This record gives sequence, C-alpha cells and structure tokens, in this order.
Amino acid sequence: MAVASENLPITIIGGGLAGCVMAWALRARNREVVLLDRGEEVTASKVAAGIVNPVTGPKLTKTWRLEQLWPAALNFYDSIRKKTGREVFRQMPLIRLFNSPREARQWEKRLGSPGYVECLASVALDPGNDLKAQYGAITLENSGYLGIPEFIALTREMLGAGWRSGQSREVQEEGITLFCEGVSGAANPLFEWVPFKPAKGEILTLSIPGLDQQRIVNCGGAWLLPVGGGQFRCGATYDWGCSEPKPTAEGRRVIEERLGRFLQLPYEVIDHQAGIRPVVRESRLLCGMHPSQSRVGFFNGLGSKGVLNAPFFAGNFADYLCGGGPIDPEVDLCGNI
Ligand SMILES: Cc1cc2nc3c(=O)[nH]c(=O)nc-3n(C[C@H](O)[C@H](O)[C@H](O)COP(=O)(O)OP(=O)(O)OC[C@H]3O[C@@H](n4cnc5c(N)ncnc54)[C@H](O)[C@@H]3O)c2cc1C
Repeated sequence: MAVASENLPITIIGGGLAGCVMAWALRARNREVVLLDRGEEVTASKVAAGIVNPVTGPKLTKTWRLEQLWPAALNFYDSIRKKTGREVFRQMPLIRLFNSPREARQWEKRLGSPGYVECLASVALDPGNDLKAQYGAITLENSGYLGIPEFIALTREMLGAGWRSGQSREVQEEGITLFCEGVSGAANPLFEWVPFKPAKGEILTLSIPGLDQQRIVNCGGAWLLPVGGGQFRCGATYDWGCSEPKPTAEGRRVIEERLGRFLQLPYEVIDHQAGIRPVVRESRLLCGMHPSQSRVGFFNGLGSKGVLNAPFFAGNFADYLCGGGPIDPEVDLCGNI
C-alpha cells in the first residue's frame, strides 16, 4: 500500500456531496486536504432532496446493505453536528402509501424476509385525511434527509482556505488527487472506461397551505418532503441518458400527475429544478485508485442514494488512504469494471 503510508497531501476535485463527505472523512483522520470546486449553479447536490428511504421501488426492496450503511450515515452526520453545532441531517419517519392491492400484498410477502420488520416504526402513523391511502400504508424508520447545500456550506467553512474556487483536472505531482466530479466525471479522460449512466431528475418545490405533515410521504413514483415554512419538495423524475439539467413541462406534468394520486389538497408550484445524477453501472458507487496511476483516486457514482451510501464508503476509502485496510470489494473501482 505505497500511497497510504506516505501521508501525502490530498487534493479533492469537486465539492458536491461526494467531495465534501470525503473531505470530512480525511480531515477526521488528520489528513491535509485541499478541495477545488468550480461553483456551478446547478449540480445534483444543489437540487437533490437528500432523502434516505430504507425501502424503495415498486417491489418495496430494502436498500442494499442498509444495516451497515444507516448507522454509519447517522454516526457521520452526528459527528458533524458535534463539531459544528449544526444539524444538517434530520431523522424523520417515512410513510409509504401503497399504490395498489398488489403492492400491499408484496409488502406482506416482504415481511417474511430478513431485515424488513426492522424497517417498520414501532408506532404506525395515521396517513390522515389529506392523503389518499385506500390500499393501506406503513411507517418506516431509518429515514430522514440531509440539507445538502447546508452541508456543502459547512464543509466550505470547515476547510477555510483549503476550499478553492476553480476548475482543473490536473494531477498533483506532490500528493494524491481524488476525482469527485459527479456526472462531469463521465468526460474525464482518466476515467473514460468507467460505465457512467447519467440519470436526469426533475424536482418541484411546493407550497401546500393546510398540510400539517412532519414526515416524508412516499407513494411509489412520487414523494413529498416537508422542509419547513409550509413548503415541500416533491419529485423526482428519472430520465436516463439525458445530459441537459433543464426543467421541462413534461417533467412537471409527470410529477404533478403522480402527486395527484395521493394528495387531496390544492398546492402551488413555487420552484422547478433539474439535475443529473451520477449513476454508474448497477447504481452502486465506485471508489479506489486509478489502475495505472497510483496517486489518482476516484469517488463517484453516488446515484440516487448518495446521502445514505457516501459516509460509510468515504470512511472505508479514507481508511485505505491512511493505511487502514482494503477497499470494500463491492465498490472497489478496479475490481468492478
Ligand atoms: C432531482 C434529484 C433528486 C435527488 N434526490 C436525492 C435524494 O433524495 N437522496 C439522495 O441520496 N440523493 C438524491 N439525488 C442524488 C444526489 O444528488 C447525488 O447522488 C449527489 O448529489 C452526487 O454528488 P456528487 O458530489 O457526486 O456530484 P455533484 O453534485 O454533481 O457535484 C460535483 C461537483 O464537482 C464540481 N466539479 C466537477 N468537475 C470539476 C472539475 N474538473 N474541477 C472543479 N470542480 C468540478 C461540480 O461543479 C460540482 O460542484 C438526487 C438527484 C437529483 C438530480
């Protein structure tokens, strides 16, 4: 492990969720960090809702390695609260409304598999009259959301002069360069062999007068996240292969049509944004060193679960860089392409 033992300074390229989580993980291990970010106005991290949802998709599948990733994420965000006095991650129950009798039956089946009962909150919440729940609902724990822009701002404060504005793909001669470029990584010649599958997402911000909701509501294709002041984020679309992060009338129509399946109250759309999720192969992040450049690293592919997945694997990668052990084989860049 030649790189790890040298205690070299580390330059992180990209100050989105990936680069910021890496910066905290490395600073916690007393490594010198400089982060370079080009300050784009629209990025996945700047538009994302930042939700952690333990059970996803039409098949109600427990998210990959939840038992390990959830406590690691909670510890990580809590360590930031302790260091800064600011709570960027808010734990919040999630109420999952079933879309159909089939989904309700699917959940009954799921309860026979290991790990599913543990996702249920001990006290089930009542969906209330403002939401249609004709096929039933469950209340899940292990959920919440990260204010990603707030988290990025805190990282910037923490790094001080170590946060630099600008754009570069230059590899540092004197240290380690870690590329955390999000979807822009797909155009990085050093990593042109990484199979990126970018997925555009559109998201709305709504004002819903009269909706008193303190939990995340998810109804399969759409969700509502209360963010305070009577406002809610609502999304999100998935559009594979689209490279323009521009909101569209069609994206808004799709989200509103799905919202109408479960929200019984009038609302007003006050913002509409879009971003491109950095998805790589099977929607799992990848990290590790370049196969032929031992001082060039990669941490990317956070997909739609970055808030949950990044803390554990940034810790693992940071341990590796500090000589503390191997990279997890399921995410190791070199073993998985
Ligand atoms: C609509 C939508 C909703 C989402 N909802 C959720 C959710 O609820 N939960 C969840 O976990 N995830 C969600 N995501 C996904 C999440 O946003 C991403 O997984 C995560 O933010 C990706 O972070 P990143 O740092 O890899 O990339 P980015 O956010 O793209 O950040 C990369 C940064 O690097 C900078 N950069 C790139 N190249 C260079 C360079 N060469 N030099 C300098 N700077 C550079 C960019 O300007 C940018 O600031 C959502 C995404 C979208 C689009």
